[in-house]
Amino acid sequence: MAIITSYFKGETYGLLGPQMAATTIEDFSGCECIVIAVSREDDRIALKKALADYFGAHQPIIGFSALSAREDLFSLAAELKNEGTITILGGPQTNVDFNGEKGWREHPHRFKGAWGSFSFAVQGPAEQLIPLLNLLDTRDVGSIPGVLIAETDGTVRQNASKAWDQSTLGKVRWDNIYILANSRLIPLTISTGQVLQHIGCPHAARTTESRIDYPASINAREGKSIKLPLRGCSFCDVAVDKGFHGTLDTETVLRQIRCLPEIADGRKIPFELINEYPLPILPALLEAVHSDNIELSQINLTLRADGLISGIQYLKVLLTIAARRGVFVLLSSIGFESFDDRILQNLNKGLSVADNLQAIRIMRDLKAEFGDAFGYSSREGANHGFIHPTAWDSEETAAENQKIISLYGLQDDILPPHSTPLVIHHASALGDWIREIEQREGFQWPRYGSVIGWWDTPRCGHD
Ligand code: SF4
Repeated sequence: MAIITSYFKGETYGLLGPQMAATTIEDFSGCECIVIAVSREDDRIALKKALADYFGAHQPIIGFSALSAREDLFSLAAELKNEGTITILGGPQTNVDFNGEKGWREHPHRFKGAWGSFSFAVQGPAEQLIPLLNLLDTRDVGSIPGVLIAETDGTVRQNASKAWDQSTLGKVRWDNIYILANSRLIPLTISTGQVLQHIGCPHAARTTESRIDYPASINAREGKSIKLPLRGCSFCDVAVDKGFHGTLDTETVLRQIRCLPEIADGRKIPFELINEYPLPILPALLEAVHSDNIELSQINLTLRADGLISGIQYLKVLLTIAARRGVFVLLSSIGFESFDDRILQNLNKGLSVADNLQAIRIMRDLKAEFGDAFGYSSREGANHGFIHPTAWDSEETAAENQKIISLYGLQDDILPPHSTPLVIHHASALGDWIREIEQREGFQWPRYGSVIGWWDTPRCGHD
């Protein structure tokens, strides 16, 4: 079996989700499973030749995971399925991407779903694939948890998923990832890994009622907005897909750290800790790692600005320990997203510009205090979140963002080389927002696969 996943050309990061899934499948099914990282630049014919060489005379079974809404990968899955490959959709947003956008039958301009491109889909933990792999010939999947299967008219049958089980989340084989080179699959040696500690995000644990403004393009000075129940940031599909399922115990996290490859001096490669509020538990985790005789080189933290502000005393303890042990702590990604309060409100970030600026002051002060043990800037490899353009950009928001950026010198150390345009996945809260505006105003925005093209001029007319 192989799992195809989206990748950026020339990168060397590991992919926890697909690589852990491949490890679980191999360990529990006895079926070899590799991950193939496919970039937009890869040639489809060369990839299909490499797949044919890999499978030889065996029935090809290809999972697709973490596709980053890439239409080229959805159409590759459809092509392979038509040619006899068993294609299985898994990973984040499986359920909603397989089923299609809410109301697509009544509203034909909406995303119809990827059910036609895949033989099956599996929502939730990878171990659910094991019984499925034994039954592929019979299509008798009625009792297998997490499985989705479609009739030819798009009617989807869906079994409830299993809960996440820590016992299968401790092991990752990091040498099972391949890339395409000269029509062949070659191993990719990764230089950074990931360690999972939180399943989902605590900011998405609670539902709040919020108002989101109409897009600036159709709302000139009218002040219209939509009230919506929101779980986490309005643009975040993790928030809708997973919510928050809690924290893995320390032993499971240590098992994952033990799996990381080592660099030449015997220390573990740098890794990103997946936890939006990691600071309170990190000093104890670092001590546990040390007691286990594991040497670390670098920990990359992705956290929220409020997590940094509330956890500053823990971070100082952590940096003191890290400096003593020669471990570099990089605040590699803080989701600032904007420096305009109206846009932060519409993103439902739960943070203000003042919070973002306080977090930046803290990082700059820590750099002065902890020097070589601590990094936070774009020069040091950080890539902080900055979403632009957005649907609410106006002359006022542009002026406000620009004012804060130049007043606080954010271009020197905080802003990433490129901003990230707002993406509205059809199943994010902003998907509900834009559908509500379509209904009220009689507009239709185009769909690009599973993404809603908010940046285009909407077409008039009800379906
Ligand atoms: S964008 Fe980040 S902080 Fe917001 S809900 Fe998603 S994971 Fe949580």
